[in-house]
Amino acid sequence: MIVRKSKSELEAMREGGRITAACLQLLSESVRAGVTTKELDSMAEDFIRSNDGKPEFKGYPGAPGAPDFPGSICASPNAMIVHGIPGSYRLKDGDVISLDVGVRYEGFVTDSATTVAVGEIPPDAEGLLETTRQCLMAAAEQVKVGKRLGDIGHAIQNLAESRGYGVVRDLVSHGVGRKMHEDPQIPNYGRPGTGPRLQPGMTFAIEPMITLGDYDIRMSEWDGWSIYTADNSLAAHYEHTVAVTENGPWILTKP
Ligand code: MG
Ligand code: MG
Repeated sequence: MIVRKSKSELEAMREGGRITAACLQLLSESVRAGVTTKELDSMAEDFIRSNDGKPEFKGYPGAPGAPDFPGSICASPNAMIVHGIPGSYRLKDGDVISLDVGVRYEGFVTDSATTVAVGEIPPDAEGLLETTRQCLMAAAEQVKVGKRLGDIGHAIQNLAESRGYGVVRDLVSHGVGRKMHEDPQIPNYGRPGTGPRLQPGMTFAIEPMITLGDYDIRMSEWDGWSIYTADNSLAAHYEHTVAVTENGPWILTKP
């Protein structure tokens, strides 16, 4: 069931979304060669808590046999697509790093991610980041009354594949609200004009994951969390929490 939020609930989500956005901005500005992902994580946790939020990822239950997620953010460099555990990895020039933040505020979660270049990156990596960002905005543009769920994934797939990139299929965009992962699951590919109709108050975390290679994924064999491209190609990941309103898309995690 897709839970719709009231106007006042959306306003609370927007307040949380501002914290999420500001946190991502702080992290993006702190990315440089020599910084560890653990340092970024500590910075994020301090920032979120000092703004009366709670880092939603911390303690998130893992798959059977895996530990609960230990970090406040996910930090996923290069061929790692998502769910990277912050730790001793030290950023170096030429890396790209996906930073993913989830904040609980006044009972509601907002979820947003960006991918940042460390120093100079090659043109093909620049192109991947730019296209993934455009995929997110094209998908967000579909989040309005009169559209259907399939229109969101189609917008992503259409743009990414027309430029020869891979669209990760085994990880999805999702509903978000009182829980981080609510119905529906939203594949980042799809057929236009299919699926449930979008209605005011629905809130989605839209998160294209796009690769320079193929779309197959590989789970880390040792930490139970990190997910990589199977072909070790570079991946990019951008995410916003977006609400359907009578007046069109409302990006709740916009800075
Ligand atoms: Mg996220
Ligand atoms: Mg998400």
